[in-house]
Amino acid sequence: MSSYLRAWLRPPVLAHDEEQLVARLLHYILLLTFTANLIYTASVVVFGLSSDLLWVNGVVLVGIGVLIGMLHQHYVRGVGWIFSILLLLMVLAAGFDNGVGLTDLNYGVSIVLVLVVASVVLGWWGAIIFTLLVIACSIVLYMVLPLPAGFTLETVRLTLLLDCVIFTIVGFFTGYSVYSLSNALSRAQVSEHGLAKNNAQLLAEIAERERVAHALRVTEEQHKQLHKRLRVLNSVSNELDKLATTDALCSKALELGHERLGFDRMSLYLVDDNVTTITTTFVTDRAGQCVVKRDQQAIPPDLLARLKQPEQPQTGVLVDDDILLQEGEPQRGWKLTSALYDDKGLMGWICADNLYGQQPFNPQDIEILQLYRITLEHLYSQKWAEQALVEMVVKKERVELINELVSNLSHDLRTPLSIINNSLYLLQKFDDPQRQREKAKVIEDQSRRLERLINDVLMMSKLEQQDTITMRPVRLNDLITPIKEGFAGTCETKQQTLTLSLETSIPFVLGNHDGLERIVSNLLENAINYTPDKGSVTLRTYKDGVFVMLEVTDTGIGISEADLPNIFDRFYRADRARSLKSGGTGLGLAITKRLVDMHKGKIEVTSKVGEGTTFKVSFVPSFAPQPAEAASTP
Ligand code: ADP
Repeated sequence: MSSYLRAWLRPPVLAHDEEQLVARLLHYILLLTFTANLIYTASVVVFGLSSDLLWVNGVVLVGIGVLIGMLHQHYVRGVGWIFSILLLLMVLAAGFDNGVGLTDLNYGVSIVLVLVVASVVLGWWGAIIFTLLVIACSIVLYMVLPLPAGFTLETVRLTLLLDCVIFTIVGFFTGYSVYSLSNALSRAQVSEHGLAKNNAQLLAEIAERERVAHALRVTEEQHKQLHKRLRVLNSVSNELDKLATTDALCSKALELGHERLGFDRMSLYLVDDNVTTITTTFVTDRAGQCVVKRDQQAIPPDLLARLKQPEQPQTGVLVDDDILLQEGEPQRGWKLTSALYDDKGLMGWICADNLYGQQPFNPQDIEILQLYRITLEHLYSQKWAEQALVEMVVKKERVELINELVSNLSHDLRTPLSIINNSLYLLQKFDDPQRQREKAKVIEDQSRRLERLINDVLMMSKLEQQDTITMRPVRLNDLITPIKEGFAGTCETKQQTLTLSLETSIPFVLGNHDGLERIVSNLLENAINYTPDKGSVTLRTYKDGVFVMLEVTDTGIGISEADLPNIFDRFYRADRARSLKSGGTGLGLAITKRLVDMHKGKIEVTSKVGEGTTFKVSFVPSFAPQPAEAASTP
């Protein structure tokens, strides 16, 4: 109720300022009239005053209430007309009672008020219509009412004419004022609208500029990021360039892609030449380490079709926004796939997804993966060519080696075989048992020589194929003594002095027991073989810095300066006649050198023809705790 009353007391709100002004004016006039009438009627009723027109007051109250109601319903013009006409009627009624024209001041002022109200409320049309109405009503009243005292017909006509002129002037001025006012108001409204429009345009422009500036900032930031990633890509490709094999390239490429290029899980698949099966799979694990799988799988046909005809041919990268990332797991996410090509066609594809980190998709990843794929294609074909070249060189070397071996072997085999054949023939011919024994001895010697040759060739070829040798701590002195004893007989026959000088405090050697035995016995055998009777051979062990040294010195025939650089070559014999005589194969030092290399040691030789030769071998000591049992382990 109170809210309804408050709304009724408030002037109505209208869209147009001009109408709002009129409505506000009418509202307050009507409210004032209503209040005045209400007070008057209430006073009459409360104080019991005599009034013949109480019912008229009641009607007026209801009428004004209805008009206010109409005003709130936005019937502004209608209320204006009714109110102005009612006002005019009231003034005419009063004029009928009290007299008309400017001769009666009340009537004159009241008529002027009617004109002003009508003009303000109804506009300049209201001013014209009510001026005409007022003039017409004044004429009628003058005609109906009796002549006032002292007035002739002529003076009344003159007064009426004067009234009409004054009412016309008042009507004109009020009408004109209202007209000018409404014009000024609408002009102000127009300019206000214009300003508001300009303002809105300006605001829209500012918002657009801010949007563009923001977009530019974002793009600049993205460009910076892209630039940074491209620099990283460059350094990654330089690092990958240093790798030797295609396998190492693929593994490292995925690990660096994860570590430096910001990809989450990376995988790379290589396919066979017919593009039917996946031959090798490289995939990074949660820690970013690459795992290689060689089990063959069929290529999914739909993936193959998409790889051959990618949805975005300009990048060639397949983009899956939301797919299952791991078989049998509910883990979903985005995945990028890009085909890898070589000169034969499709060779595989590379993928990146967000299985582990679940990081949001970055559109830049498409560009980076595309560039990375191109880099990998280039490096892969380069590595492949390099690898093929290396394999070719190795193959060529092997063929040369085999040729050399075959030619050396055929010669070395043929000699003892022809001696054996010859001796066999003579053995059958001779009846003399002494000569038969001689020939049998020759056959035995040559057979041993053949056996040794074959053993050395096998040993050499075994060592050539091996890259490493099993090593553990070995006490060098312990294996020297039994070897010395093995040569004691030969030395005795040749009347040679074989001396051992073993330093007891030398550390364990990190080595292979059999390999070390072979080194010592080869060097000792050569020293004995190439030292004439009554000569001497000395074998020493000692410590030189951190190294354990083995030294074999003889007072033998020595090696000429020209031969020294070649003595470690296979089948090289400085003194061929003596070597053959002693049963040498020409492989002893080659085997020794290979074994020393495998022990990460060093072998050096110094020699003077006619004076003797010294071989020095340095071994790496074992830094591991040196168990007592290691000394006795073979
Ligand atoms: P071989 O079976 O002929 O002894 P090696 O490979 O053991 O073959 O030695 C290569 C050559 O080096 C020998 O033929 C020999 O001429 C020379 N040589 C090796 N050790 C000695 C040495 N202690 N004194 C002189 N010459 C040596």
